[in-house]
Amino acid sequence: MRLAIVGTGYVGLVTGTCFADCGNTVVCIDKDSSKIDGLLQGKIPIYEPGLQELVERNAREGRLSFTTDLPKGISAAEVVFVCVGTPQSADGSADLSIVFEVIRSIGEHVNGPKIVVIKSTVPVGTNDRALEMLKHAKHPVSLASNPEFLKEGAAIDDCLRPDRIVVGVREQATADTLKTLYAPFLRTEKPFLSMSPSSAEMTKYAANAMLATKISFINEMANLCERAGADINDVRRGMGHDARIGFQFLFPGAGYGGSCFPKDIRAVISMANNLGSGSSLMLAVDQVNEDQKHVLGQKIKNQYPNGITGKTFAIWGLAFKPRTDDIREAPALVLVNMLLAAGANCQVHDPEAMPNVKRLLGDQISYAAGPLQALECADALVIVTEWSEFRSPDFALLAQKLKDKVIFDGRNLYEPKSVASAGLTYHSIGRVTAQAER
Ligand code: NAD
Repeated sequence: MRLAIVGTGYVGLVTGTCFADCGNTVVCIDKDSSKIDGLLQGKIPIYEPGLQELVERNAREGRLSFTTDLPKGISAAEVVFVCVGTPQSADGSADLSIVFEVIRSIGEHVNGPKIVVIKSTVPVGTNDRALEMLKHAKHPVSLASNPEFLKEGAAIDDCLRPDRIVVGVREQATADTLKTLYAPFLRTEKPFLSMSPSSAEMTKYAANAMLATKISFINEMANLCERAGADINDVRRGMGHDARIGFQFLFPGAGYGGSCFPKDIRAVISMANNLGSGSSLMLAVDQVNEDQKHVLGQKIKNQYPNGITGKTFAIWGLAFKPRTDDIREAPALVLVNMLLAAGANCQVHDPEAMPNVKRLLGDQISYAAGPLQALECADALVIVTEWSEFRSPDFALLAQKLKDKVIFDGRNLYEPKSVASAGLTYHSIGRVTAQAER
């Protein structure tokens, strides 16, 4: 099939590339000319494992191209996917201005019958509003919704092997075309679920709301465990083996971040308010998460009752999760800002996210080439993102390097006893602090 993807970000570039990899001809469109210029020279604007080689191969073989020209980009396409951002507005609702700008532009330039698919995460009713805008288009447009469930860091695998495909359609023929398009991804009998556009739009929010709820739930239990002298890791295992509960998204930490959960939860709250429905659970999920982003900072303050002015903290991990360079709403930024405001110095290392943080914070912090370099002359270590390379450090070396011999771990990467036996004090989440054995 001939496809156009409008918005070449985390979702659009991965989706377009995976479709091209199945033999479709795909044009990726973006209004950011520096992004498109870079892609035309083989530069991938984001870090996503495996993406570079997939883009290179499909571009080389002529199935994947890039342009800033929307009218030209959509002209040959049978199906146009809208994958632009839907950031949070000042009032917490989803800002739909970019989606509507793109829909309007498609309506103006449509040169034949097309299927237009909204893949961006949008509130219930957006598809209906967009359809109104397309009423006067010169050619018939069938407007579908097809929310995306990929996870950054595993996006290609999620795209090529999704758990399910959800489409919201008004015409059976549109569902049939989309089913054919997705067939190569659903060969293991994963379901293609066709429903109304409103239900498809809601499905995405409901799924993210459930996942964020699980995270805030386990974080609240972790904080309770700490006070009660219980160990959240044992509790998590004791719970997770219950088949009705499971282990996924039950890891306590420094709070969720990223471009989806925070804004999507607030969009659900806004939607509920507008529709006169209650949102007490989502309000609590959001509040628990905001508080959780300050838990590491609070532990640091407790460890240093005389203040941290002049102290140097090594920070491992800046991205909101491992295997991405995305720092949107990352808990690490909350921590770094708190440390800087308290007069401390930060020496950070992240395998992929440092350029993005540098654009934001510049020289307020120093950037280390590797995890060990970040420890040079540091007083303490703080771990915020669970990159694999942080999982098995040499604790004896850490004890030697860190002046105050203390680790604050926001991801529970280590077994407390082994850290303490190396002579380090170890603070983690939902577990009693392990005091250094000297
Ligand atoms: P992103 O910010 O990475 O990418 C959006 C792209 O759209 C950018 O490259 C931007 O330059 C481009 N753009 C903006 N205005 C444009 C216009 N008028 N014409 C053409 N291009 C334009 O966003 P993302 O993370 O890919 O998210 C896109 C949507 O998918 C959002 O609604 C998001 O909630 C949803 N989503 C994201 C993820 C994720 O993990 N990132 C997962 C599932 C769903």
